[in-house]
Amino acid sequence: MSLEVVNPVHGKLPITKPLKGVAGKTGLWRTERPVVDNGKCTRCFTCETYCPVNVIRVEPETGVSIDLDYCKGCGVCAEVCPVKAISMVPETG
Ligand code: SF4
Ligand code: SF4
Repeated sequence: MSLEVVNPVHGKLPITKPLKGVAGKTGLWRTERPVVDNGKCTRCFTCETYCPVNVIRVEPETGVSIDLDYCKGCGVCAEVCPVKAISMVPETG
């Protein structure tokens, strides 16, 4: 698997993250999707750091965006969010 070295925590410890899409558009088999309440979000970057497929981006102005083509629906982001700004909801259709 390809890896990229990133440093999302403002100059602290570098970590590795998998590149998204190495196994295709994994969003096709997701059964739940994350929904973000950007009004609650404090822009702490925790979800972006912990997402195992690197599909979350946090922007200070606009908040969290998630690439649902590749999100697996694992729920890690919802679990780690300290203010519970992310909810997992069932996929419909
Ligand atoms: S549900 Fe999993 S794969 Fe999807 S954005 Fe959250 S942590 Fe990433
Ligand atoms: S973990 Fe929660 S509060 Fe932090 S950036 Fe993600 S959604 Fe926002």
